[in-house]
Amino acid sequence: MTTESAFETARAQLRKAVDQLGLSENDWQTLSTPRRILEVAVPLRRDNDKVEMYKGFRVQYSTTRGPSKGGVRFHPQIDLEETIALAMLMTWKCALTNLPFGGAKGGIAVDAQTLSERENERLTRRYTSEILPIIGPERDIPAPDIGTDERNMAWMMDTYSVNAGFSVPGVVTGKPIVLGGSIGRNSATGDGVAISTREALRIRGIDPVGATVAIQGFGKVGYWAAVALEAMGMKVVAVSDVNGAVIGFKNVAELWSHFLEHKNLDAPGTDRITNSELLHLDVDVLIPAALSDAITGQTASKIKAKIVVEGANAPTTPEGDAILNQNGVLVVPDILANSGGVIVSYFEWVQDKQNYPWNAEEVKTNLNSILMKAFHEVEQMATNRKVTWREAAHMLGVARVAQAHKLRGLYP
Ligand code: NAD
Repeated sequence: MTTESAFETARAQLRKAVDQLGLSENDWQTLSTPRRILEVAVPLRRDNDKVEMYKGFRVQYSTTRGPSKGGVRFHPQIDLEETIALAMLMTWKCALTNLPFGGAKGGIAVDAQTLSERENERLTRRYTSEILPIIGPERDIPAPDIGTDERNMAWMMDTYSVNAGFSVPGVVTGKPIVLGGSIGRNSATGDGVAISTREALRIRGIDPVGATVAIQGFGKVGYWAAVALEAMGMKVVAVSDVNGAVIGFKNVAELWSHFLEHKNLDAPGTDRITNSELLHLDVDVLIPAALSDAITGQTASKIKAKIVVEGANAPTTPEGDAILNQNGVLVVPDILANSGGVIVSYFEWVQDKQNYPWNAEEVKTNLNSILMKAFHEVEQMATNRKVTWREAAHMLGVARVAQAHKLRGLYP
C-alpha cells in the first residue's frame, strides 16, 4: 500500500475531471479540499497489561450531498494522506451512484492480525470514542474495510449507543443483521463486482458463461465476487491472499471451506503461483481485490486479461492505467466496480431510519438497478466524450458534487 501516490493520483484524477468538465478555479478549490480531518491517538491495553499507542484517523472529505460515508481500515501502513485519497474517492463514488452521501474514510495504523479478539474490541471502542463527536447517522456513517468486519461495526454501534443513552443502529453500516444490518451487505461489494464483470464482458462481446477470471485478494470483496461470478457461470481460475496465489481448485466453495479450516489456500489439487504470476495469467478478466497499487508501470504491460474490474480501491497507478489503455484493456474503475458495498450500505441506513427491514429480493433488485444505471451512464459518457471509463466515472461524480456546491451557494 502506498501513501503519497494514492493521494497524488486521486488529486490528479480530480484535476483532470475538473478540466474535462470545464469547471472553474473556484470549483477546483472547493472540490480539492477535504472538509474535516481528525487525527487521534488510540491507547490500547494489551492482554499482557502493556499499553501501546496507535494513530487513528477520520477524514470527512465532503458533506455537500449528505452525511459523509466511508469505511474504517485497520492496516499497519495507513496514514493521513492515503485516508484523504480514499475519502475523496468515496465522495465521487457516492455521487456517481447518486446516493445522498458525501465521502469519508478512517482507520487505525495497526495490524489487526496481531490483536486478540478482546484487544481488537478495546481498540475499536476507544477509536469510536475518540471520533464520537464527528460521527452519527446524520453526520458520518462508518462501515467495514480492510481489516475490519461486522464485529467491529457491532462494537462501534454499541459504543456510540451507550454514549447516546439509546440504540443508534444507523451510526454504522455493515452490522450484523440482528443489530439492524442489511440482508446482502456482506456480499454486496462482491455482487457489484460480478455485475460489473458481466456487463463489461457483454460490451467486449464475450459470453460470461465459461469466461475465465483471476482474483487478487480473497477477503470480503474477493471471496464474495468469486461466489457471484461462479453463480453467473464464469470460471474463477486463480485467487490469492497476502501469502500468494493458487490455481487448480475445483470450485470456490471447496477452496473457501478449506481456507476456513486450515487458514491457507492449499486445498487438495491446487498449485501455488506467485501473486505476480496471477496478475499475468491468460484470462478474460482480472480482478484486483486487495490493496492499492497492484497494477503499476512495471506489472501492467504483461497483463493479458482483456478486462480489468477494480474490486479494490485505487489498485492501478496512473502509469499502469496508461499502459492498460494503450493495450486496449477495458478498465472498469473502482468507484463504479466496487460501489455495490456503499449502495447496500445506503439501503441499510434507510432501513435503520425506517425501522423496517427489506427482504433479499428488494436488496438485490435495487442494487442491480442503481449499479446498472451508473454503469450505463459511464458507458455513455465514455463513448460520447471519447474518454476512458475511469475519466467518465470521475466526470460524472465530480460534476454532481460541483453542481451541489453551486446550488447550495457559499456561506456566508
Ligand atoms: P479484507 O481485509 O477482507 O481482504 C483483503 C484481502 O487481500 C485478503 O485476502 C488479504 O489476504 C489480501 N491481501 C492483502 N495483501 C495482499 C497482497 N499483497 N497480495 C495479494 N493479496 C493480498 O478487505 P476487503 O474488505 O476485501 O477490501 C479489499 C479492497 O476492496 C480494499 O481496497 C477495500 O478498500 C476495497 N473495498 C472494500 C469494500 C467492502 O465492502 N469491504 C467496499 C469497496 C471497496
